[in-house]
Order: sequence, then structure tokens, then C-alpha cells
Amino acid sequence: MSAPNETFLLGERLFSPEDLSSIVARVAGQIDADYQGVGESLVLLGVLKGALYFLSDLSRRIQAPHQIDLIGARSYDGTQSTGAVAITKSPDTDLTGKHVIVVEDIYDTGRTLATIEDYLRRHEARSVALCSLFAKRRGPVFPANLRYIGAEIDDRFIVGYGLDCDEAWRHLPYVAVLTSPSIADPS
Ligand code: 5GP
Ligand code: MG
Repeated sequence: MSAPNETFLLGERLFSPEDLSSIVARVAGQIDADYQGVGESLVLLGVLKGALYFLSDLSRRIQAPHQIDLIGARSYDGTQSTGAVAITKSPDTDLTGKHVIVVEDIYDTGRTLATIEDYLRRHEARSVALCSLFAKRRGPVFPANLRYIGAEIDDRFIVGYGLDCDEAWRHLPYVAVLTSPSIADPS
């Protein structure tokens, strides 16, 4: 991205802290219903750094015993997807034989989650499910393995509650659209 953050403006607020809290509660309920009785073999694997806030709230809402871990993946530069996804940090724990739920901030092209899913299959996770707080409507359907979606949004660039633009706005307790004449479709 060439434009500095000063050229961006916070636009419409899409999700209040209360909205986010009810989304988290609903997703946690779905996960609890699906993973009853798997015990300590359940791992929530958050994708750094955007999913940190969601992961933290979700983990406290899920009643099923579980561990958390973190994986690093990077595809975006500013508001633009670079197309290639790199794993920048491996999980600390051995995920072999674990039921892993990948916790992501936002599903856009799906490349990040596909890369992480491939990583987990190679490391012989027992099962892999994908959970994303937000998912952008780009096509008619989302892939079947994207099992938990907090909220679907239009194809706009959003920030707050963990989601950033070049590290800015991550800390906002709500989610808003970032507006700029220079924002292009990140696909
Ligand atoms: P994908 O690989 O699915 O195309 O992109 C997913 C990643 O791109 C997300 O983990 C997130 O880091 C970034 N991303 C995609 N759309 C947005 C957006 O609207 N806002 C922010 N802040 N990041 C986004
Ligand atoms: Mg991300």
C-alpha cells in the first residue's frame, strides 16, 4: 500500500460492542453443541493478529474444555491482498491428533484459511474446522469447511475489534468501514 493511514477515514459503524458480543455468544454455542465430549483434544487456533480479540472472547464463552494456540499468516499489505500467503509463525503445541478449530478474523478470498488448513493436514490434525468472525460475500456460497461464520458482510474493508489497516484501528471496540478514494477491490 502506498497511501499513508492519514488518507483513510473511519466510515459507517457496522457492529457495536454489543453486536460483537452476541455474535461471539452464538458461535460459542454452535461450537459447544458440535464438540461435546472431545475434552482436551480441542484446540482453538487463532490467526495472528486479527483474530486475537475474537479468540479471547470466544474462548471465554466456550464451555467445552479446550486449549488455545496461535498461528501467523500474512497475505495483506495495507488494504490490498498480495495473493500469496505465508505462514509466519508456527503453533507452539503439537497439533497431531487434535480437533482444531481455526479462528480467523475475516474470510475474503479464502487463501489464508486454505493455506492454514493445508498446514494442519500436513501436521496430521485429527479434524479441522474453520471459524471466521466475518466473511465477505464474493460468490454464491462459502466452502463447506467454513463451518462457523459470525456475520456476512459486503465486500468492503473493515477495521476494529482486532482488524487493522497497517496496524492502525485494531484496538477499536467496534467494527467500522474504512473509506478512502484510493481503496481498490483487494482481490
Ligand atoms: P483471504 O486470504 O481470505 O483473502 O484474506 C484474509 C485475510 O485478509 C484476513 O485474515 C485479514 O487479515 C485480511 N483482510 C481481508 N479483508 C479484510 C478487511 O476487510 N479488513 C481487514 N482489516 N483485513 C482484511
Ligand atoms: Mg488475518
